[in-house]
Amino acid sequence: MAIRSVSELVEQGFKVIEKEIMGCTDCQLHETVTNRVISKGSTSPKVVFVGEAPGKNEDESGIPFCGRAGKNLDGMIEYMGLSVDDYAVINTIKCRPPKNRNPLKCEINACKPFLQAQIELLGPKVIILLGNTAEKAFCNGEKLDWGVPRPVDGKYTLLKIYHPAALIYQRSRIEEQNSLIDNNRHLWE
Ligand code: SF4
Repeated sequence: MAIRSVSELVEQGFKVIEKEIMGCTDCQLHETVTNRVISKGSTSPKVVFVGEAPGKNEDESGIPFCGRAGKNLDGMIEYMGLSVDDYAVINTIKCRPPKNRNPLKCEINACKPFLQAQIELLGPKVIILLGNTAEKAFCNGEKLDWGVPRPVDGKYTLLKIYHPAALIYQRSRIEEQNSLIDNNRHLWE
């Protein structure tokens, strides 16, 4: 029987979370997925980047942020001065929505226990929300200002910046993104 309580998932650890995600049928996306995309990076990071959902490349490979958006994310991580032990990358939902449409609210909610358990186990100081879908999963309908940090219950700080995919076609935003990062370096340095 599937484990869906966050506390049980946390107690069982990363391996069980991975197994549960692999067998999950809790939303319609399991019908069209090729590979579920779970995480990459450190298991005890200072910073966790939370993306939206797997795209075509991620669905084919099972690796988060491995296409053009991934190159932009790598550039951001380098600009932030983070080393490989400092960060992890996960997505709000683990299965690709058909034709890369935005995840539905019911899909975000169905996948949320996995996201919450991953965050509990990773225990970051800072959670970087890469765009609006990640914000929906963490902020319960509230909108954060871009680049304005929000401490949460003394546990971690949320920071919303642009999704790396949004920088592919709007190169002018890279400078804007870099200034959002510069204003918040104290959070991870
Ligand atoms: S997106 Fe999440 S909730 Fe939906 S089937 Fe995949 S793992 Fe399960």
